[in-house]
Parts: sequence; C-alpha cells; structure tokens
Amino acid sequence: MPLGTPKQKLKKQGKAPTKWTSFWDMHSGGSLKTEFAFIFIEAPEGEAKIVFYNRFGFNPERISCSCCGGDYSIDEGDSLEQMTWFHRGCRAVEQKRGEDGLCKPLPKGVNYYLEAGEDPPPGFTASAGWREGKYQTLAQFLKGTSTMTEPKAKICVIRAKDIKARIRRGCWKPPLAFPTTWSTIAG
Ligand SMILES: [Zn+2]
Repeated sequence: MPLGTPKQKLKKQGKAPTKWTSFWDMHSGGSLKTEFAFIFIEAPEGEAKIVFYNRFGFNPERISCSCCGGDYSIDEGDSLEQMTWFHRGCRAVEQKRGEDGLCKPLPKGVNYYLEAGEDPPPGFTASAGWREGKYQTLAQFLKGTSTMTEPKAKICVIRAKDIKARIRRGCWKPPLAFPTTWSTIAG
C-alpha cells in the first residue's frame, strides 16, 4: 500500500487540506462531560473551541477537578485518520537512534503510524505487541463501540459543512494567564 501523509492523499484527490481538532474527554472529576468520549470538529483549534463552546455550552479548557486536570486533551491535526491513530491501535513507526543518540527523522511524506497492510519505510521498524490484533479502521472506530483507550466510546464528529456560520463566531479568548494554583477556573 503506498505511503503518504493524509495531507498528500487529499492533495492527490484534488481536495483542499483541512484541519481537525480533537477533544478527548479526560474524565476529570470521574465522569464524561458530555455523552461523548471523543469529539472531533473539522476546524482549526481556535475556531473548533468556539464551535465546541456554542454546541456544548461550556469551555472545553475547563478544569472540573483540580486534582485531575483539564476536562479535555485537545489536539489539532490534518485528518481524522491522523487524529485517531493511537486510539485505533495503529502500529507506530519506530525511529532509530543514530550514533549521536538522536532519533533519525522520518523521510518526508511518511506517516508516523501505520494502517493495516502498510509497512514501515526502509530502515525503520514498527511497534508491535499488545496493540496488534486490536487495530480498528477509521470506520470501525467512528461506530464508537470501544477503542484502545475508551472501553465504551460514543464519538461525535462535526464536519465543516455542518457547522453553521453563527456557530463559528463567538467570544472565545484563551485564558489570560494559567492559574498557578490549578484551582480557580472550575465550572
Ligand atoms: Zn480529581
């Protein structure tokens, strides 16, 4: 199977590259914050946080429990495949350390994870072991039964075409300064 980053694959298909932001519920305080274990929004991170706020009614950077930390682990990436590779049990491409002790960089255009049937690039290896055999395709993952990281996962995917213009606007601003006490932005 040919290797290529999601961005390159989109380019080949003649589609404009987009951005996805993932919100992985951290169970801060011991429970899910919505009915979903994962929320994926097709927008760059800043805009996705506004969409999240307008859709779910609370700040995704909220800290419900100061001992557990943030409600969500928030990341931005190029595709749903890339945002979910870890949770789907994909093998990771292992980078070898050179004589200088530093990891050899991946060749350009090569993903750091492997879908089923993909091989690591020449000179690199892939992680094995417990992740193997539990691999999920993106379609299986999005059905949301269970994942590598969430035994019962309902998954919400909000695509760009489904985001109304008024939902993209908002008064979202990043927190002014991160509180040093970890206890002041709950609720
Ligand atoms: Zn806690």
